Amino acid sequence: MAIPFDNTYARLPASFYAVQTPTPVDAPELIRANRELAKLLGIDPEWLESTAGVQVFAGNRVPDGAAPISQAYAGHQFAHFVPQLGDGRAILLGEVVATDDSRYDIQLKGSGPTPWSRRGDGRSALGPVLREYIVSEAMQALGVSTTRALAAVASGEKVLREGMVAGGVFTRVASSHLRVGTFQYFAAREDDDALRTLADYATARHYPAAAEAGNPYVALLDAVIAAQAELIPHWLSLGFIHGVMNTDNCAISGETIDYGPCAFMEQFHPQCVYSSIDRQGRYAWGNQPQIAQWNLTRFAETLLPLIDPDKDAAIKQAEESLAAFPQQFHRGYLDRFAAKLGLPRDQEQTPDFIKATLEKIGPQQVDFTLFFRHLTRVAAGEDPAELLALWNSETAGRDWLEDWRTQADPTTRLDDMRAANPILIPRNHRVEQAIEAGYKGDFGPFHRLVDALTQPFAESADYRDLEAAARPEERVTETFCGT
Ligand code: AMP
Ligand code: MG
Repeated sequence: MAIPFDNTYARLPASFYAVQTPTPVDAPELIRANRELAKLLGIDPEWLESTAGVQVFAGNRVPDGAAPISQAYAGHQFAHFVPQLGDGRAILLGEVVATDDSRYDIQLKGSGPTPWSRRGDGRSALGPVLREYIVSEAMQALGVSTTRALAAVASGEKVLREGMVAGGVFTRVASSHLRVGTFQYFAAREDDDALRTLADYATARHYPAAAEAGNPYVALLDAVIAAQAELIPHWLSLGFIHGVMNTDNCAISGETIDYGPCAFMEQFHPQCVYSSIDRQGRYAWGNQPQIAQWNLTRFAETLLPLIDPDKDAAIKQAEESLAAFPQQFHRGYLDRFAAKLGLPRDQEQTPDFIKATLEKIGPQQVDFTLFFRHLTRVAAGEDPAELLALWNSETAGRDWLEDWRTQADPTTRLDDMRAANPILIPRNHRVEQAIEAGYKGDFGPFHRLVDALTQPFAESADYRDLEAAARPEERVTETFCGT
């Protein structure tokens, strides 16, 4: 077997998925393969890049050992419940146990229609393929829990979006594709047997210690809450805006999943939104903690019949678990922002100073990433000119910096600052430029961006241009799902 499959999900009851083989594409061509990830998965990178490998990752050939399925799930989309969504343009080839002993899903995205496609074509345009590759691998290098990119293939076919555009197939690797929406699918059908099977499966796969707890379903809930309480402060600390935090895009594993209209915030603003479909700003940068809590509450609701046959007792239990989220989130948020600012996290004034800093930089239209990047250089003893140049008012910048010097502890915390403040992020205009060039058949900017972002914390003279904020004419103000 070229891919050492060991499938478990396909052995779950038939109601969990539809058996579905990928639909071949006309003229597949490999754009990029992730050799490091292939090795981790026990796949020979040479094979992955060979004609046989490309046939597999285009969906043109089902590899030995695969059990291709599309998974059932439901979900709240912008707070509106849809009882049946499912993999409309994704097919899970199967699972492998990697050299790190972890189990991973290997999934094709854009590999043709499935029973869950509704009116969709089951395909993916090239743009979203390149975007997910760039951003998910950048997130990985930034240390964020995330799904990964194994391959991007050009299909040689056109898809109809805002016109006919080139299509592609993306191979996503995830520690699983279990979502809050997977639980909601069975909860909506009041299928308690399936729910129990799913919860036991999720526990065994992601949180095996929970199985030993007095109440394993409460322990599962607690573990999922803890994973989100770890993830969301990490997003906030990098200025990451997911853009579509629907419950079907909320992974039980705590991985970031579904890189649609996501964006990295440029000028700091707590209500910052880029997604063209998020008209109300529901998924703004600063709303993400509340939305995570909302999604976790929906998850808890699905577990109620498993937690306790007495509904009131179950609700009381779930509420107790959910009440831990804000505290856990705040601890993570404090840790991350104290590190970014070089502050001692246990100092009494630290939370207020973090808050005051963000309140000050907002109206000054300061670039979020460059602010912390240049502050790190100031902490290392460099001249503050570049930091101050970010502020509309240099005096406001100087006043803030003076305050900061009384609070911060840069000499002992410089390493923390360096590890918390990336030099490179996938800036929206760079992602757009890479996609635009890709549509014209030039994958140079895409490769360069992916290469650069493997070392987001490193100083590199070669990638200086990728550090800079967008010039006014390059600025991206809206991002699209592009599905
Ligand atoms: P997303 O917004 O990417 O989370 O997708 C939401 C739902 O729409 C999921 O059920 C997807 O499978 C489905 N979907 C998105 N794009 C397509 C497409 N091109 N064809 C079929 N289904 C799609
Ligand atoms: Mg999705």
